[in-house]
Amino acid sequence: MKSKQTVPFFHRTDVDSSLDGLNPAFRSPFVRALARLDAQGIAYHVQETSRSEARARELQMRGTGIVRSLHRLGLAADVLPAENFWAPASHPFWAAYRDALEAEGLTWGGHFSRVDMPHAQFLSAQRDREVWAAANAGTLDALLATV
Ligand SMILES: [Zn+2]
Repeated sequence: MKSKQTVPFFHRTDVDSSLDGLNPAFRSPFVRALARLDAQGIAYHVQETSRSEARARELQMRGTGIVRSLHRLGLAADVLPAENFWAPASHPFWAAYRDALEAEGLTWGGHFSRVDMPHAQFLSAQRDREVWAAANAGTLDALLATV
């Protein structure tokens, strides 16, 4: 039997780590949060930004994501400590990352009931349903303009 080839997640070619596809409403404060890390000399790696529906479905099947992720709307990104992608929760990077995000009014996934420490998103998870309803109605920009 041929063994299944596994590709490290950080080398996957279908992962978008460009800031270009992010919604400007999220991109601006996210870039400022990263600048806060730069100012402290904290090295980071932007792992994933925008996400296709196909990839979101794949991650949900694997149990490591949700179909209705804000990544699909360009309103979320995942960041890892450059020195150690597998840094434990106690690593000082996470507190610095949390503080940088929250200083810019962003939501950190480390507070989610299903903890997701690399994850940053524009609004609180409690508003995900509202955001998706607006996206489906074509009124996302109007909603984001009110934030
Ligand atoms: Zn994420």
